[in-house]
Amino acid sequence: MESAPPDDCSVKVAVHIRPLIGDERLQGCKDCVTVVPGKPQVQIGSHSFTFDHVYGSSGSSSSQMYEECAAPLVDGLFQGYNATVLAYGQTGSGKTYTMGTGCRDSSQTGIIPQVMNALFSKMETLKDQTEFQIHVSFIEIHKEEIQDLLDPCTINKSDTTSNGHVGKVTHVPGKPPIQIRETSNGVITLAGSTEVSVTTLKEMAACLDQGSVSRATGSTNMNNQSSRSHAIFTITVEQMRKINTENCPYNGSLKEEYLCAKLHLVDLAGSERAKRTGSDGLRFKEGVHINKGLLALGNVISALGDEKKRKDGVHVPYRDSKLTRLLQDSLGGNSRTVMIACISPADINAEETLNTLKYANRAR
Ligand code: ADP
Ligand code: MG
Repeated sequence: MESAPPDDCSVKVAVHIRPLIGDERLQGCKDCVTVVPGKPQVQIGSHSFTFDHVYGSSGSSSSQMYEECAAPLVDGLFQGYNATVLAYGQTGSGKTYTMGTGCRDSSQTGIIPQVMNALFSKMETLKDQTEFQIHVSFIEIHKEEIQDLLDPCTINKSDTTSNGHVGKVTHVPGKPPIQIRETSNGVITLAGSTEVSVTTLKEMAACLDQGSVSRATGSTNMNNQSSRSHAIFTITVEQMRKINTENCPYNGSLKEEYLCAKLHLVDLAGSERAKRTGSDGLRFKEGVHINKGLLALGNVISALGDEKKRKDGVHVPYRDSKLTRLLQDSLGGNSRTVMIACISPADINAEETLNTLKYANRAR
């Protein structure tokens, strides 16, 4: 195991500003967010915020965002470091677009498709000295309950066998709810969720597609559930590395080193306030639950980001929500975290955009 984390700062924050979209243009919305040229700084009204990176609606590409935000985390995986990428923002701000968890045709521009490409290219270059085992899971947290987006019961079997896209299912869930467990050495596991073993990029892409489709169609109330739930696509990389110790004075042979690390790619629930999600009691309750996850996440990340608190060994409130509990071993410590705050530039969204920037600012 490498002794120190790749760099000192555990949480990086980027802002992704999408362009005005059709609906906003039709309504005659104005662009109310400005990026300070040459600086990772955004202004809205009289407020100004500086982040690690800002990707504006023009001039920055999705590959630049991948290279700066996610590529270092993928490299870290090969050294055994866990990592998390989170997309935060109000519904419609571009979280799903940014992560690439949308249904099909969501091209190759999202973070996840680019992560998958890089992962398999890198494994190809290392295959002579390293044996890899890759697993993926894809779950959703809705109202503090975990749902399995890769549950084989929901897969159309003829579909998956005829095109051979889906990898071997190694763990078939039973009826009991999926539970988050912690091993004695602090590793967080999910009991009862489907873990798919994949050997090719195509198989992994099929898992992403399949889960994205389940997410969009899984509920009768389909246009709303996905905006109120957190979707977490997790890639686990296990490697057995052969180390040549020929130059060792006392033992000239091949040794093996085992490393295991995971990368969580999270499309968070919409951050808009409960009052805006609906008027009936049921929706309000869901709003409260979502806020619980986002609230806990904000508290955890801000506790981690505070150097002084960290040194004083301040309590990091991971247990306050399922989301933070699940991410516990991949937020803080030796792991790297990137939050991408997604915002709309439209003036009608100014209030939520300001809330998002304030939340993201707390994370720094
Ligand atoms: P969210 O997941 O936050 O609710 P979406 O990712 O679904 O938001 O984005 C809302 C709409 O905006 C979609 O139609 C999407 O295609 C579009 N969109 C989002 N981000 C961008 C972008 N960077 N460039 C172009 N269109 C975008
Ligand atoms: Mg979405």
